[in-house]
Amino acid sequence: MYRIENNIYAKETGSYGKSLFAARDFKKDEVVFVVFGPLVTVATSYTIPIDDNLKINPRVPEENLCQFICHSCEPNLGIKNRTCFVAMRDIKKNEEVCIDYAMIGYEYGNEITDEERICKCGAATCRGKMGCYKELSSELKERYKGYISDYLLDKYVPTASSKGG
Ligand SMILES: [Zn+2]
Repeated sequence: MYRIENNIYAKETGSYGKSLFAARDFKKDEVVFVVFGPLVTVATSYTIPIDDNLKINPRVPEENLCQFICHSCEPNLGIKNRTCFVAMRDIKKNEEVCIDYAMIGYEYGNEITDEERICKCGAATCRGKMGCYKELSSELKERYKGYISDYLLDKYVPTASSKGG
């Protein structure tokens, strides 16, 4: 039976607050967790958009682990459908698990300041700020193929010219 606490745990990173870590090994494409929480219409820096004006608030209940998913410019998780966080590669127990926020959200609004967007992931490929789909390069869109929220793919379809004929 799937229980989120058998798959992930939260731990203080010391540099960017709490983050999620793997509680066991995962194979590529295995579901690591399914984000849950009440549906809300107002964005915060924590909400996960799933439709126009509809988001999941992962901070309820208070101990909800989903709220600690951090952004990285070298993610090992991607998203299937709109709510399933899956392994993009094999992941070892106790490895930090993180996602590129560009796989989830189209753009940032007033819910987050430029300063809060500064990325501290530490990856060699760090883009300097947390990502959003709108700013994602075509190279990364290709690399993240199959791991981007259906919400973004349904809403922001490629233009005719980028479909290649
Ligand atoms: Zn980064």
